Amino acid sequence: MGAAEEEAWVTLATNDTYALGALVLAHSIRSAGTSRRLVALVTPGVTMAMRDQLSGTFDLVQMVNVLDSGDTANLALLTRPDLGVTFTKLHCWRLTQFSKCVFLDADTLMLHPCDELFDREELSAAPDAGWPDCFNSGVFVFRPSLETYQKLLTFAVSHGSFDDWATKDISRHLPFIYNMCSTATYSYLPAYKKFGETVRIVHFIGATKPWLQPFDSETRKVRVSADQEHQRMLLQIWWDIFCYHVHPHLSIDMGGLASA
Ligand code: UDP
Ligand code: MN
Repeated sequence: MGAAEEEAWVTLATNDTYALGALVLAHSIRSAGTSRRLVALVTPGVTMAMRDQLSGTFDLVQMVNVLDSGDTANLALLTRPDLGVTFTKLHCWRLTQFSKCVFLDADTLMLHPCDELFDREELSAAPDAGWPDCFNSGVFVFRPSLETYQKLLTFAVSHGSFDDWATKDISRHLPFIYNMCSTATYSYLPAYKKFGETVRIVHFIGATKPWLQPFDSETRKVRVSADQEHQRMLLQIWWDIFCYHVHPHLSIDMGGLASA
């Protein structure tokens, strides 16, 4: 068994809307090129029909529960509903059939091959654009381990996780081009002009989720407001993949997406 069998890209969807993001992401990874497996973690909030769609694109669709009862750490989490999605992400450490993985948020998009990320160690991540002493959890390298999973579960309740990332080991700081938040195209225009072409993974953090943008199904162009003009090209790449690879297999009306 080669590295391709033992290492995987992992994403998460708790509902059909984020599952669309996951589908586009998966196609972007395949288009960029990878020798690694593709895994989608899904919760029962994703419909059967959508799980079928995911199975057609991902190598593995793994059902996880939002909360497992009978686990004290999980019970403690009930008092911290804000940790809901963070908690669900932690399930990725249970994928012990893989030796190393890279987690990608469902609102990310791969523009160039990124298999070199598998040379990095746990926990590697890029700085958060809003608070660079923290890492952004939209893209991170990790090693599945039930022990780590339990520790993080317990720890996440009282602390953050991997608090020492900022100071411990600079090799665990991924370059920003592996998790470039799409809004940076505006705030840091000079940097974007210099580095934009090297961006490997775009992250549509916050409110500008591509699937929430109005889309003209006649012209197949995304509609952006004046203050989002700088993001048009990136949003259009997402929609091109959606129209070409995802939509033909779905039984939904595209016009209804923006209101999903
Ligand atoms: N997510 C999900 N369902 C939700 C919210 C989040 O499946 O209702 C997953 C999805 O993979 C998403 C990730 O959790 O990309 C993190 O959430 P989001 O990307 O919305 O946060 P942001 O990056 O904007 O801070
Ligand atoms: Mn995200």
